[in-house]
Amino acid sequence: MNLDLKNKKVLLRVDFNVPLNDKYQVTDDTRIQGALPTIKHILKEGGAAIIMSHLGRPQKKKKEDGSIDVEKFTLKHIVPFLSKQLKGVKVMFCPVTVGKEAKEMVKALKSGQVLVLENTRFNPGEEKGDKELAKKMAKLGDVYVNDAFGTAHREHASTATVAQFFTPKKKSFGFLMDAEIANATKVLNNPDRPLTAIVGGAKVSDKILLLEKLIDFADNVIVGGGMAYTFLKAQGGNVGNSLVEDDRLKLANKLLAKAKKKKVNIYLPKDSMAADDFSAKAKKAVKYSKRIPKGWMGLDIGEKAQKEFTDVILKSKTILWNGPMGVFEMKPFAKGTKTIAKAVAKATKKGAFSLVGGGDSVAAVNQMGLDDQVSYVSTGGGAMLEFLEGKELPGIKAMKG
Ligand code: AMP
Repeated sequence: MNLDLKNKKVLLRVDFNVPLNDKYQVTDDTRIQGALPTIKHILKEGGAAIIMSHLGRPQKKKKEDGSIDVEKFTLKHIVPFLSKQLKGVKVMFCPVTVGKEAKEMVKALKSGQVLVLENTRFNPGEEKGDKELAKKMAKLGDVYVNDAFGTAHREHASTATVAQFFTPKKKSFGFLMDAEIANATKVLNNPDRPLTAIVGGAKVSDKILLLEKLIDFADNVIVGGGMAYTFLKAQGGNVGNSLVEDDRLKLANKLLAKAKKKKVNIYLPKDSMAADDFSAKAKKAVKYSKRIPKGWMGLDIGEKAQKEFTDVILKSKTILWNGPMGVFEMKPFAKGTKTIAKAVAKATKKGAFSLVGGGDSVAAVNQMGLDDQVSYVSTGGGAMLEFLEGKELPGIKAMKG
């Protein structure tokens, strides 16, 4: 971070969009932990941090009378947790993002102190990238630091538009943003080979662009999770009631043909842990993935698939993982995802570079306590996906102007 921070009021966009329980306590602090080094650096260098973030989707989930559900979405919920992490630092909360009260609180803010502004998405202009709102935000800080990788794929007022109001010498990425970009770039540019991508999760349609891109640069693509059944059906398999996107069967075949032409190995699960209902209590049995009985569905990869996928992973030098191998939220269908997480950790120990990016696979790795046994765990779901698809993210592009 090449900025003079001494006695500066630093407008800092972070991604504190973290899950909360019904008592509004933070249940997964990965993103907050990710931003702490930047916050601490600003304070250590003699600056004051004015923190902006969104939390949830307050504009989409309004109360019955059409007003914002402040109680549910206020960023105030994060303040006690942040205070605890920043022991000895005064952390204050401002009940608006911009406006008179924000200006006054910023004016009174001293070096070494932190002010958390209210949820940026309470302002209708935020998600529209509104220039007037961004201008008001910009006026609060002497310099702007963007450390919100998780929101970098959004062209919003606080993530992109605001950067226009700072000259190149007065804006910078934070440490988390730098690390995310560096690690994703490591996979994209000259990776050690073989490069294996593991893609899972629910739908093919969410990850078409990623799959297409992977076929351009990976050596092996392992497909697990619900999305595998669209491929298996496209190949003529009987997949019973498994999750299938019938309108993507042609596309699945196209992707398989493209992979064959490019000599990219695509691995689909040979067998599945199938069930007669989408429930942890359902009747379960291991079945060949292309011979799942009528009324049954594949909810996890089977033992043969786990073994085959593990062998491929252990031979890899670069590994990218996005999406779980099964319905890992239900214990009987978590084994495939767990086995793959262990294999990625083992390959990393042997010297491979591994990047885990994207919501649910990150949750799986965290739950298993393997987060420090892979090379990098991304804080960005959609943002990481779009970065890997080769798009220039608005939050990154805006800093260049
Ligand atoms: P995504 O957000 O696309 O990464 O998808 C994650 C979701 O996919 C998780 O909630 C999983 O429960 C779900 N999932 C994984 N495997 C399957 C499967 N075989 N059938 C249905 N859903 C699945």
